[in-house]
Amino acid sequence: MVAGVLSVPRFLLGICADAVFPPLCNACNAPLLPGESIACQACRGAIVSVDEWDDAYRDALVRLGLEGTVADFVAAWYFERDSPLRELMHRLKYGGMTPIGVEFGRVLGERIREAGRGESGVIVPLPLHPSRMRERGFDQCACIARGVSTVTGRPVDARLIRRVRFTASQTTLGHGERRENVRGAFALRPHASVAGMTILLVDDVVTTGSTMRACASVLLGAGARSVIACAVAIAR
Ligand SMILES: [Zn+2]
Repeated sequence: MVAGVLSVPRFLLGICADAVFPPLCNACNAPLLPGESIACQACRGAIVSVDEWDDAYRDALVRLGLEGTVADFVAAWYFERDSPLRELMHRLKYGGMTPIGVEFGRVLGERIREAGRGESGVIVPLPLHPSRMRERGFDQCACIARGVSTVTGRPVDARLIRRVRFTASQTTLGHGERRENVRGAFALRPHASVAGMTILLVDDVVTTGSTMRACASVLLGAGARSVIACAVAIAR
């Protein structure tokens, strides 16, 4: 009996399963239509895209570029209170839905390519602290970086930078406190060389930009040519 079930081609089992239990939108739980994945068209349409002429984008760009830290900034969406993006991000970070991260990365990768920033450089995800990595079992920024790589074709180095100090959650901190919180939190992997390299630094949501800047400072201090900050979303 078991052997009979196992002899059915796997793709046929998948088609049958989708007919009985159609995959659901990860944001609103509506059944997905053929050709849709991760989120339905309605939810995707409700997520606001970043326009480089928006004040929110320009403000983030200025904050990230303070002291010449970040050379450019690419972001795909705004992270807003009622956006379906909130639920998708939650399922990625706390539900371990890693395909959502890879899809985020693909969308971000398209933006990076449109901005003319996808031709060179190494993709580096912002690292989680090892203890948080153990707690969650995966790193959401590394998933996003993989998605960026599938579009741009650039390599990922997920171990170039590491967190050497545990930092408190940033959510309740103001600008100055966040900057202090992440000071000295990152270090280059021992014996790694970044001399002359362009780095595409990847994060999920940029708020004040202090984490991105702290990471970029380490890279530039070690001789990187330039750092391009890339984020799935800007908090607004
Ligand atoms: Zn939906």
